[in-house]
Amino acid sequence: MEDNISISTLNDFIFCPYSIYLHNVYMETDEGLYHAAPQTKGKLAHEPVDSKTSSNRKEEILALPVMSEQLGVMGKIDVYRKKEKQLIERKYQLKQIYQGQIYQLWAQYFCMVEMGYEVDKIAFYEISTNKTIPISLPTAENKHELMCFIQSFKEYDPSAPFVANPNKCRHCIYCNLCDKTEDNNVY
Ligand code: SF4
Repeated sequence: MEDNISISTLNDFIFCPYSIYLHNVYMETDEGLYHAAPQTKGKLAHEPVDSKTSSNRKEEILALPVMSEQLGVMGKIDVYRKKEKQLIERKYQLKQIYQGQIYQLWAQYFCMVEMGYEVDKIAFYEISTNKTIPISLPTAENKHELMCFIQSFKEYDPSAPFVANPNKCRHCIYCNLCDKTEDNNVY
């Protein structure tokens, strides 16, 4: 059986496929070595959910591990509101919603549906502004798009020729450790 892809890496793969390779290389090392301020803030934003302390409401399920055999992905959702049948992904700040973040939410949605949960609504919740941002439920066409994307992720070859994008590198947490660039990151 093929390994399942972690849902949390889908957005990183769009940002730069090579960063997934570096993530796997450095995953055993101290995160302080490469985690820049935005990543640390993002991680802290998830901590109350991961430790299941952000809500005591019985109608909410927090940090539920999810998986989809059909998509070949696994991960953890932030919040599922049973009464509203709503799946919520928390972010510290969302100046802009990237396609990779939408893919993450779609993937969580398909996992939950495959696991037998009813999900009628999906949304992001921006912690810094206390704002909920509803997202349309994915269509069959969206599902196909997501599956093609996951397939390209699984087939990625880090030894293939690659040209780094300096604008991305300067905002990449692996910048100072990456063999594809001479840039330094801005953090
Ligand atoms: S430093 Fe540049 S090439 Fe290296 S992983 Fe980051 S974005 Fe990709």
